[in-house]
Amino acid sequence: MKALVLKAINHLVYEDVPTPRPKEGEVLLKIKASGICGSDIARVFTKGTYSFPTIPGHEFAGQIVEVGRGVNDKLIGKKAAVLPLLPCKKCDMCEIGEYASCRNYNYFGSRCDGGFAEYLVVPVWNLVMCEGELSYEEMAMAEPAAVSLHALSKVGVELGNSIAIFGAGAIGLMLAEFAKAWGAGKVILLDIDERKLAFAKEMGYKFAINNASANWQEEIMAITNGKGTDIAIEGAGVASALGGCLNVVKPQGKVVLMGNPIGDMNLPQHDYWEVLRKQLTVVGTWNSSYTQKKNDWQIALDTVASGKMDVKKFITHKYKLENGNEAFEMVRDRKEFSNRVMFIME
Ligand SMILES: [Zn+2]
Ligand SMILES: [Zn+2]
Repeated sequence: MKALVLKAINHLVYEDVPTPRPKEGEVLLKIKASGICGSDIARVFTKGTYSFPTIPGHEFAGQIVEVGRGVNDKLIGKKAAVLPLLPCKKCDMCEIGEYASCRNYNYFGSRCDGGFAEYLVVPVWNLVMCEGELSYEEMAMAEPAAVSLHALSKVGVELGNSIAIFGAGAIGLMLAEFAKAWGAGKVILLDIDERKLAFAKEMGYKFAINNASANWQEEIMAITNGKGTDIAIEGAGVASALGGCLNVVKPQGKVVLMGNPIGDMNLPQHDYWEVLRKQLTVVGTWNSSYTQKKNDWQIALDTVASGKMDVKKFITHKYKLENGNEAFEMVRDRKEFSNRVMFIME
């Protein structure tokens, strides 16, 4: 099969590799759509994967074409999205179903081979199916959708709640869509990239504010009648956005820390005081829930299938796998505005 193989930092090669075979409890997935996450850009160009060579990619969906021993062959032909987390299922966190907090996990696309390939062997446990009619591209958006849904469910949204979201990329915008679907009132998106703000406005978000501008905080105060927002989400991974969240959220408000930090997240004394004086609830979020009780993936796909959320509009670019380097360089160099860039395999 063909795959994009990361052999070293900044050395991604499109080449032939052996097609894997499913073992007991596994299926062979013919990958049909595979999205490039912001974290993949860092992996390919600066951070690397945990070992080399590795096939990156953790946001993908495909068709089940073969099953291993003990797996119902009725699955053959079915469409599936894939939870990229491979928990140990032995540690204390796994025992209580908190797989995202597993102490010894594996992960498609960073710790082991992932979705920038024609095929991948996947345990049945990791398959997420959908009753409704969804395209492979929509199903490949399940991962960022589940991550944003999980972040939002850390605080919950009450009818009419105002929310400020720092970072208007794919996850920030999807989080905004879920917030609206759950009855949020004013949804305010913040970013320092004017193109992202323009994209948010095109999607119908009239409060899309550049938080590098002079009076962005006053703007938020005006929008919320001088009260501040009920909820603030740090989705940019920079200290200024964290400080921004603490400053614009109202007393007793809730702040969710979600963005991968690009460096140290130092706080000025004044911002730290905001946490104390306003008695804020500040919570972290990571990955997604995947249990019988609460499965963010199923909720995300069902929300899309029900028509309450259109994830297709996030997909701004499609590439063939063979043009992998071109796609990665386009995103890295911001040659064009992009939201989700996806590889489509026939
Ligand atoms: Zn991702
Ligand atoms: Zn575990």
